Amino acid sequence: MNDFLKPQKHALVEKIRQFLKENCPPETIRAFEASELPPLDIRDKMKNLGIFGYTIPEAYGGAGVQLSSAAVVVEELSRVWPALAWIYIGSVFYGGSNIANLGTTEQKEKFLPLLARGDLMMAYALTEPEAGSDTTAAQLTALPEGDEFVISGSKTFISLADKADWLITLTRTDPDAPQRKGLSMFLIPNGVKGLSFNKIPKLGYLSSSLCEVFFDSVRVPAENVLGGPEMLNHGMSQLLQTLDVEHMEIAACGVGVAQGALDLALAYAKQHKRDGIPMMKNQSITHKLAEMATQLHAARLILYNGCQLLENRQPASQEATMAKYFAAETAKHCTTEAMHICGEKGDDTDQEIQRLFRDSLVLSIGGGTSQILKNMIAAHLRH
Ligand SMILES: Cc1cc2nc3c(=O)[nH]c(=O)nc-3n(C[C@H](O)[C@H](O)[C@H](O)COP(=O)(O)OP(=O)(O)OC[C@H]3O[C@@H](n4cnc5c(N)ncnc54)[C@H](O)[C@@H]3O)c2cc1C
Repeated sequence: MNDFLKPQKHALVEKIRQFLKENCPPETIRAFEASELPPLDIRDKMKNLGIFGYTIPEAYGGAGVQLSSAAVVVEELSRVWPALAWIYIGSVFYGGSNIANLGTTEQKEKFLPLLARGDLMMAYALTEPEAGSDTTAAQLTALPEGDEFVISGSKTFISLADKADWLITLTRTDPDAPQRKGLSMFLIPNGVKGLSFNKIPKLGYLSSSLCEVFFDSVRVPAENVLGGPEMLNHGMSQLLQTLDVEHMEIAACGVGVAQGALDLALAYAKQHKRDGIPMMKNQSITHKLAEMATQLHAARLILYNGCQLLENRQPASQEATMAKYFAAETAKHCTTEAMHICGEKGDDTDQEIQRLFRDSLVLSIGGGTSQILKNMIAAHLRH
């Protein structure tokens, strides 16, 4: 806990912890991970907590924009079950935050009340086989035909695309424009003719799905341009507007995963002896724990400081980039060290620590790799 968290956030933390204790014991998590099925029924139970409206203005049924509250939820869910946090992110960030910030009035009226209740989930489909770090190389085309657009091509590595109700996707609407221009964001209803998925096997986040998405002449009306037809060919500026929040949401995942790893390693070290000596008296163990706790504290401070800046509508691009970079690296460091502290138990697939270790690895890839983020931080320093 840190000073950025006001008393009502402590209550929120307790509420999430109680929910996880009651609904997500290790055997439940293991069963979902083994089946590789997203825990949508547990998401449905989460609706009663009233936590889906933290990126949505009250006028649309939300709780008012409280980025740090949403980050608290993501952190607490990630601490125990990172894949459950991604489902929450689908509603609150990919849906709520994007539509609240970029949608037309009609799109806000249509989607935000549903998102605020947790009744809708969205996937965020940017990556393509040849457009990963450089999202603007997108080749998925959306070309006008009458008062519709015809979308053709594919996306890849899209989390929960097959389970989401809608996809927000980046398309090329002017193939003749320079690479960073001529891009537009579209809202695509799942189930529309011509849309299909292929599941991608993966190492972590097993109870989330990861998909290739194929668009075979998918037709949507012009009103499905995110922000309305006047935002046609303004996809790049929309991406930039939402980048800070995207960095924050993944930073919150990283802080949660790192905290989960520290919790497990500390509990193990407190319970076990080696050569008759308590592990907590072994300096090689306690130094690891000290480093983990210090890095984690720093990552959490950068995260909530950034959230606070964004909530106060102050510039926070550098802070958001640092938060995502540092929290993802901290998650990897803490889970790796926790694996070592737990010895052979770290490698035991019946134990939680190896799951957090596997889940931590993608956090420095998805939503901007650590290398790209360091490029961005350095570019900011140059100016
Ligand atoms: C589990 C998982 C879930 C994902 N979920 C989603 C999702 O929901 N939606 C979505 O749109 N995408 C998603 N992604 C895709 C993710 O965002 C991309 O993998 C990421 O942006 C990197 O793109 P890439 O894999 O094509 O790597 P590349 O861009 O090909 O990069 C390969 C390597 O080169 C480095 N590199 C590239 N360019 C530079 C540069 N200019 N300077 C220095 N180093 C560079 C990278 O850091 C990386 O190490 C997901 C990925 C995974 C693994």
